[in-house]
Amino acid sequence: MNNFDYSRASDVADAIRLLTADPGAKLIAGGTNLIDLMKENVERPSRLIDISRLPLRDIKGTAGGGLRIGALVPNSDLAYHPLIEQRYPLLASAILAGASAQLRNMASVGGNLMQRTRCSYFYDTATPCNKRSPGTGCSALDGLNRNHAILGTSKSCIATNPSDMSVALAALGALVHIAGPSGQRTIALTDFHRLPDDKPHLDTNIGSGEIITAIELPPRGFTRNYSYLKIRDRLSYAFALVSVAAALELEGNAISEARLALGGVAHKPWRNLEAEAALRGQAATPDHFGHAADLLLQGATARSHNEFKIELSRRAIVRTLMQAASARPQSQAHKKIA
Ligand SMILES: Cc1cc2nc3c(=O)[nH]c(=O)nc-3n(C[C@H](O)[C@H](O)[C@H](O)COP(=O)(O)OP(=O)(O)OC[C@H]3O[C@@H](n4cnc5c(N)ncnc54)[C@H](O)[C@@H]3O)c2cc1C
Ligand code: SF4
Repeated sequence: MNNFDYSRASDVADAIRLLTADPGAKLIAGGTNLIDLMKENVERPSRLIDISRLPLRDIKGTAGGGLRIGALVPNSDLAYHPLIEQRYPLLASAILAGASAQLRNMASVGGNLMQRTRCSYFYDTATPCNKRSPGTGCSALDGLNRNHAILGTSKSCIATNPSDMSVALAALGALVHIAGPSGQRTIALTDFHRLPDDKPHLDTNIGSGEIITAIELPPRGFTRNYSYLKIRDRLSYAFALVSVAAALELEGNAISEARLALGGVAHKPWRNLEAEAALRGQAATPDHFGHAADLLLQGATARSHNEFKIELSRRAIVRTLMQAASARPQSQAHKKIA
């Protein structure tokens, strides 16, 4: 690990000031991702700006009937908060599908959104990686790419975003509140993460000197017909090969509203409004779910070792929609595939 300076921010304005003053500085919240990357010499911040004591831990209602969640709320507190369990169970389920209890106790909402890819070449400083060292090449293109992306890839990078929480937030239509040197702004979660294009070193659209202050959930929470299904190599403590967040509103067996997002398949949570529109007004049947899966997976392409992910994703989408329609969501306590 390299030497670095340390400052504790006294408020959000102070964090922004410290970030702006030192382009090599990094915010630290729970430290569960950043410290790992520093130990591996992947991240070498000149200064750590500790934001863990800033007052960004509130969960409260918005004037519009939604919920505003502070960026420093620990993942565990969020998953088990009564308002989240009751009004946004899809989000609770996605969070509990991630990491371990100890990690979720430390990990913050903002840090979860900002965590970096788990591509093994990104962690291995002896190999070329455009995300870690722009312009050096991508070792995964012709290397071990079993876990890598099948949607939205580029010739520069085929990494996936590892966050479970972000997949549910994308399906729920969450907003990200950001503060920076130019003031405050809000962007949709679906616009927060980027596709790699020719700049894979940029994971998100957050600007320099900016800090996430909160996440906002809209009022609609899909409390009955939802499911988060995560397919992984081990039943716990593993990142998704494919994950699906599905939420439906049903009138009888007819779908009046549908939300679908995929994790583990792209550089960002993957949502396609065409697939959701195709479900509206249809009966909740495997055929219609299969059609939506085909639309969601339009353009999917594989590399040498991850062809299986395309069919796996299709089956996972149909299964998750079936679980949602029957109001039998995937259990995160008993992770057997029902
Ligand atoms: C063994 C292991 C298994 C895991 N499994 C999963 C999993 O299955 N699913 C999953 O989703 N995650 C998983 N994680 C990742 C874990 O969820 C993240 O490490 C955690 O959410 C990061 O939060 P943090 O507060 O610790 O972030 P930190 O490590 O403190 O920071 C991470 C990044 O976010 C930036 N940052 C932090 N807060 C802000 C903010 N408010 N505004 C702007 N930037 C900010 C930091 O500068 C840094 O770049 C796993 C981690 C480990 C170590
Ligand atoms: S897939 Fe992306 S993160 Fe992985 S080696 Fe290629 S450029 Fe690096």
